[in-house]
Amino acid sequence: MWPHGEADSTVTLEQIAAYCDRAGAVGVTEIAITEHLFRFAQADAVLGGFWDEDPDPALRATMGSYWAEHARADLDAYVGTVLAAKDAGLNVVLGLEVDHYAGRMDKVAALLDGYPFDVLLGSVHWLGAWGFDNYEDRVVSAEWDARSTEDVWDRYAMALEELASSGVCDVVAHPDLAKVTGRRPAMLEEYHDRMAETIARNGLAAEVSSAGWRKPAAEAYPAPDLLARLGAAGVPVTTASDAHRLPEVGVGLDDLRPLLAAAGYRFVTAYRARRPVPVALFPDADR
Ligand SMILES: [Zn+2]
Repeated sequence: MWPHGEADSTVTLEQIAAYCDRAGAVGVTEIAITEHLFRFAQADAVLGGFWDEDPDPALRATMGSYWAEHARADLDAYVGTVLAAKDAGLNVVLGLEVDHYAGRMDKVAALLDGYPFDVLLGSVHWLGAWGFDNYEDRVVSAEWDARSTEDVWDRYAMALEELASSGVCDVVAHPDLAKVTGRRPAMLEEYHDRMAETIARNGLAAEVSSAGWRKPAAEAYPAPDLLARLGAAGVPVTTASDAHRLPEVGVGLDDLRPLLAAAGYRFVTAYRARRPVPVALFPDADR
């Protein structure tokens, strides 16, 4: 992903090549390029105004201006550039991070139909008009103070259920993003159970991401307890550093290995044309 500030620009072949160089230097053999769907004008045409039904005018206004700033790049240009990178022999696959749009996942599916994606990540970044993980925003952070942690996690779990059962994505990205600010409900294990069950029942994989260590949550996504439940349920995993900038590529991946091992994982999953391909996590261990 390229930095979110560069609103209408699309990724270039040179940027992808630089990401691949950086990845190679830190021992990552393949990158899925996964820009957010909400960065594209095509998403605006179909999904713009998804926040309109939220009763809170301040949240609606905040989401409206966030969206207006971001939904400007061209999806076809993005896809074309990533395909050109693949053709040029760079070790990338074509992905996209598809957000949850309550009641509109059929529109998302129709929008993405026909593109040659290798992998689609699914994520919950907003509840109604509240972009809860954009917590540095004053309006967003005030809402964190106004709601109970249980209410946030309940709504998050419900959104995850709709997203997972939509069939639109292959992998749930940062599955317990609701912990981003560090607030966790008293009955955390019950939520973990529910999330693991949702992901397993819908035949999805889960992303294990080092990005949580860079947030107030101060923990990888998903939490070790959730990862153990996912492992027990046979849910495959991918790994990510969720890099939005070059220096973030591969950061923390070495620290994910022991977490995966502790949860019983011996394979991670790569994707080709939306089909999972297992990759040994500890290729030297069997020798
Ligand atoms: Zn995300």
